[in-house]
Amino acid sequence: MIDLKSIINSTTKYNFHSHTQFCDGRATMEEFVIEAIAQGMEHYGFSPHSPINIQSPCNMSFEAIELYLDEFSRLKVKYGNEINLYASLEIDYLDGWGPANQFFQSLPLDYRIGSVHFIPSFDVPGEYVDVDGRYENNFKVKMENEFHDDIEAVVRSYFAQEMKLITEGGFDIIAHCDKISHNASCHRPGIDLEPWYDALVKQTFDAIMDHHYLIEVNTKAWKEYNRFFPNSRWFSLLKQYDAPIIFSSDAHYPNLVNAGRDKAIELFKNSL
Ligand SMILES: [Zn+2]
Ligand SMILES: [Zn+2]
Repeated sequence: MIDLKSIINSTTKYNFHSHTQFCDGRATMEEFVIEAIAQGMEHYGFSPHSPINIQSPCNMSFEAIELYLDEFSRLKVKYGNEINLYASLEIDYLDGWGPANQFFQSLPLDYRIGSVHFIPSFDVPGEYVDVDGRYENNFKVKMENEFHDDIEAVVRSYFAQEMKLITEGGFDIIAHCDKISHNASCHRPGIDLEPWYDALVKQTFDAIMDHHYLIEVNTKAWKEYNRFFPNSRWFSLLKQYDAPIIFSSDAHYPNLVNAGRDKAIELFKNSL
């Protein structure tokens, strides 16, 4: 296990959330490493979407784990004197499935990321629906076909899953803990400014602090949507909490390994 806190306290030249050819990343691990070195990074972590016990095209297969770890070891030897590389997974939470599972705990990972992309189906017990897809051709359709157009119920279910992830544990970093804010506010603009929504986010932060996780500020959507996860409107509160913050780009393309990070770091530093 690595000491993430001392790394992020010593430098901003890092990224600990990134995808690869083993999940829905758009280039090989080696191409990401070469780009990270070119962009001056000192620390780079791979975090493919974990294997999962439901059908999901974005998640890596169980069989690919060994190949992933072998490729990681090869790259660490090849580039180890130019950059510090780390193996991780972005582990999905479903009821009874998540970072705390023995399967993930037994893997030789340097750290683990806990993440919610799915909520339970409203109609079919035991099934899950991905709420992380793009709004226009994905989430919007699900609002009609899966969620009875009840966006408040979707948001409440999302934060309930976050709370279970936080309580069950087994991970180091909580990824994009209010990511639903983007799709929800596409569906109902301003929803993430409503008092009940604020209360859910605050409860989530309180629980994260109680369990001492690192809170990721996810910068992936900054360029396209001017939004961080958590949203920058929460930065002041996070500073008051003295929460440990890790700024990661969630890169799926090599040229985006640092995308949005400098802006998030600057905004965070200047928030009161
Ligand atoms: Zn994610
Ligand atoms: Zn990710």
